[in-house]
Amino acid sequence: MGESDRLTKMAFTRTAGRLGLLSCHVCNRLTESAPEAHEGRCSRCGSHLRSRKPDSITRTWALLITGYLLFIPANLLPIMHTNSLFGVQSDTILSGVVYLWTSGSWYLAVIVFIASILIPSAKLVTLTVLVVSVQRCSTWDPLQRTNIYRVLESVGRWSMLDIFVVAMLVALVHLHTLTTIRAGAGAAAFGAVVVVTLLATMAFDPRLIWDPQRARHE
Ligand SMILES: [Zn+2]
Repeated sequence: MGESDRLTKMAFTRTAGRLGLLSCHVCNRLTESAPEAHEGRCSRCGSHLRSRKPDSITRTWALLITGYLLFIPANLLPIMHTNSLFGVQSDTILSGVVYLWTSGSWYLAVIVFIASILIPSAKLVTLTVLVVSVQRCSTWDPLQRTNIYRVLESVGRWSMLDIFVVAMLVALVHLHTLTTIRAGAGAAAFGAVVVVTLLATMAFDPRLIWDPQRARHE
């Protein structure tokens, strides 16, 4: 089956929306919707019926921009202050990575870099690309984009890994006696980035990726 055949077939797939139905997200009951109606209540469980997550694009953008803004203090402010015999030292994520690298723990430096800088920024950028593609009614293969969204969702489940790495770092430093460690403001900002990105992924409605397909073939 050729690529265009596959796309045509996908475009003619029966969906609840095309059949004039709304599916209840709580009890799964299908309700007939009046033409152009996007909301109502489920006659079985009384939940709000919505054909798409409300204001998905706007809410995703708001959370994404918040994420980008929080990413700045998360990387510029110290994530921890270390008090030792040698004085007080404040570390940002990046200076922590550099310290780990130069002190020979290069494997730990790589883990912290990937979990605390690479993955969070990749998540923000990928979701931004998806939202822009939906807004511009992109012709980019919807199946590919859905797969990317699925990866984003599954990575979200492991998001706390980022925070876990910071916690592990704190625990490692604690092994040295006579050393006290305090979390800095950067740690709070970093935690907020993780949570906001998670919420942004949840706010995005992947069905919007498929909507232009349907419009194009109707
Ligand atoms: Zn229901």
